[in-house]
Amino acid sequence: ALNQTMAELGSDINVSFEFFPPNSEKMENTLWNSIERLSTLAPKFVSVTYGANSGTRDRTHKVIKDIQDKTGLIAAPHLTCIDASRDELREIAKDYWSNGIRKIVALRGDLPEGLAKPDMYAADLVSLLKEEADFDISVAAYPEVHPEAKSAQADLLSLKHKLDAGANQAITQFFFDVESYLRFRDRCATIGIEQEIVPGILPVSNYKTLLKFAGFSNVRIPNWMHQRFQGLDNDQNTRNLVGASIAMDQVRVLSQEGVKDFHFYTLNRSDLTYAICHSLGVRPHVTAIA
Ligand code: FAD
Repeated sequence: ALNQTMAELGSDINVSFEFFPPNSEKMENTLWNSIERLSTLAPKFVSVTYGANSGTRDRTHKVIKDIQDKTGLIAAPHLTCIDASRDELREIAKDYWSNGIRKIVALRGDLPEGLAKPDMYAADLVSLLKEEADFDISVAAYPEVHPEAKSAQADLLSLKHKLDAGANQAITQFFFDVESYLRFRDRCATIGIEQEIVPGILPVSNYKTLLKFAGFSNVRIPNWMHQRFQGLDNDQNTRNLVGASIAMDQVRVLSQEGVKDFHFYTLNRSDLTYAICHSLGVRPHVTAIA
């Protein structure tokens, strides 16, 4: 009976995990150890980023293919349109479809320096992909507003535009102020968005790097977070425990607010994400012990 309860605990919760392509043998090992461990939690899908303007698209393709071949998980490549022509994007889409890839995270990518206005926005990429094949598409959403947006309302309408173009769900930028996500979800509902707005959860272990990244991505770091990480610059272990505890609080509140799908920015590590999933009741598949 105990085993049954364990299996049912997080049975209505869906998780997905995001990875990035490794650039050294050591990082490759870390990635595969993480994929192995996290795959036991039966994620709905895993995704692999592609750094726009980095010219390393092949690395994303390779990891996606390896994940599909070795684990059988649904693997979704991130695809950006800022650095490719429409013809190239159509070729990539055809190639993905013929390789059995059905899910794509469709993004614009950051503007390269000097480019004021892009040729394409993510909504255009969604339309292009849908013209090629019936992909299952996720797009990005920004509870605290994308830094380039003219206003919060304009940003919200641009999300609606992406979803109306055929995207199936949105995944949010990470956030630490849970209220900002909940307000955003309400505003999405108010303008008639019916697709899932899946919170992107970032388990923090390197606080200093987070501060840098949050600065240019317009994510607010609340004061209480500064306090919790204060004095831990040289103490990775305690930072990990603090980071996990913050994310566990976050997912607990979100799940009480009815959130059923969670996307984790794993940074290719499994320990924090695994623990946070555990706290959500998401456990390795348990078979009944006689
Ligand atoms: P868009 O939806 O096109 O929006 C970009 C900006 O333009 C917004 O400010 C929007 O309000 C505005 N806008 C949209 N349409 C119009 C219009 N018609 N006219 C005027 N303004 C408009 N980056 C990577 O390089 N690689 C990745 O793998 C990657 N993965 C990500 C995954 C997630 C879940 C998230 C949240 C972000 C990811 N990013 C990634 C970052 C993303 O590429 C950047 O945030 C980028 O600057 C915006 O991409 P977007 O798809 O949200 O763009």
